[in-house]
Amino acid sequence: MQENTPKKDRSCWPGMDEEKIQAAYNFNKGYVDFLTNAKTEREVTEIVCRLAAEKGFVPIEKVEAIKAGDKILINKNDKVAALAVIGQNPLEEGFNLVVSHSDSPRLDLKARPAYEADGMALLKTHYYGGIKKYHWPAMPLALHGVVVKKDGRVIKVVIGENGDDPVLTISDLLPHLAKDQMEKKMSEAINAESLNALVGSRPQPDCANDPIKTYIMNILQEQYDIEENDLTSAELQLVPAYSAREVGLDRSMVGAYGQDDRVCAYTSLVAALEIEKPLRTAICLFVDKEEIGSAGNTGLQSLLIENIIAEIMHKAGNDNYFSLRRALALSAALSADVNAAVDPNYPEVFEKMNCSFMNQGVVVTKYTGSRGKSGSNDANPEFLARIRNLFDEAGVVWQVGELGKVDIGGGGTVAQYIAHYGMEVVDCGVALLGMHSPFEVAGKLDVYMAYLGYKAFLQKF
Ligand code: MN
Ligand code: MN
Repeated sequence: MQENTPKKDRSCWPGMDEEKIQAAYNFNKGYVDFLTNAKTEREVTEIVCRLAAEKGFVPIEKVEAIKAGDKILINKNDKVAALAVIGQNPLEEGFNLVVSHSDSPRLDLKARPAYEADGMALLKTHYYGGIKKYHWPAMPLALHGVVVKKDGRVIKVVIGENGDDPVLTISDLLPHLAKDQMEKKMSEAINAESLNALVGSRPQPDCANDPIKTYIMNILQEQYDIEENDLTSAELQLVPAYSAREVGLDRSMVGAYGQDDRVCAYTSLVAALEIEKPLRTAICLFVDKEEIGSAGNTGLQSLLIENIIAEIMHKAGNDNYFSLRRALALSAALSADVNAAVDPNYPEVFEKMNCSFMNQGVVVTKYTGSRGKSGSNDANPEFLARIRNLFDEAGVVWQVGELGKVDIGGGGTVAQYIAHYGMEVVDCGVALLGMHSPFEVAGKLDVYMAYLGYKAFLQKF
């Protein structure tokens, strides 16, 4: 459809008429709500599980024997979710998989975060993923996550999202005293150890040691049953406290924290919920830890995919190891992750014949990586040809993408870990402005086309 140059005719969006534009705008209402309510991987997982249950997906633990047409829900550690719609064909002939990630760059609290200094109480943070540190001071921050008590009880925390909730913030240095700071390189101007969040300033009466920190700890104890030592077994994240918003006077874009990669998580979720009786089993996976290299047992460098498929095949009555290997190797996947949209403020880092553009369709990225495609997947052309054909036949507006100029930098996705199993995989997602910033921007047309693309792939490929 859209080939590899920016369209010469800019008087209309490619492949769109007024009706489709309206459909795209309507679709994005749900997306904006999702972004406002899902700011951590746990919150994404919770929403995925709730919406799937409403649509008849059954937790795999409750399923005795899997058969064609069944809708299965898998939850790992409350941080990874998978939805499977079992196909007519045997699983060992392969399945269609869409994988997005639900973690986003943020500030995590350290294991011993609380201290007081200069009449204030603060929380130490350790940033997660590739952030520009200067983005994070001087804005309202909400605290999200869980604290696990020694007896195993999980206490959920969301502070700063309701209108009358207090927020936290990290103070920035006033320009009057920032002469030295302003002369530093941007990467060094803010020190990670100075990303400490302001959490209080009121002293506990008759308290000799750390009265201000003590006052805060008493609030946590009284309102949440959290003791200071409990913060050691916790996952608490500071994220921007504002809602997702429409951007532009024409409302053609969406601005929000965490669109990398919740734009692909949401669009593939809605697609998966609508899949009925596919020939090949359709699986939609929402993984964690992509932003730190897919580490840990909720990231894709683990045996997560293999274990999920083994579990499904086991419940379908097939425990044969070779069948499992064949199922994985004969499968097809979309690595659903974002790319960078050409930014008119920084045209020098983009190569416009091959980079992707705002609201010009979902982006198919053959390879990612740095310099000579290091850390990339590089999809096979035979597979790419089939994806082109599928999208064109389904009316999916799409474009090619590459992450900026070759020598400038680069990045990777989970595609390489999916390819590990032998299956075909290509990156396919939405182009963002300001990726990894606290307010990323996506185009509504692209969001809608990602949904149509994932749906066509899961239902028909
Ligand atoms: Mn991503
Ligand atoms: Mn990312």
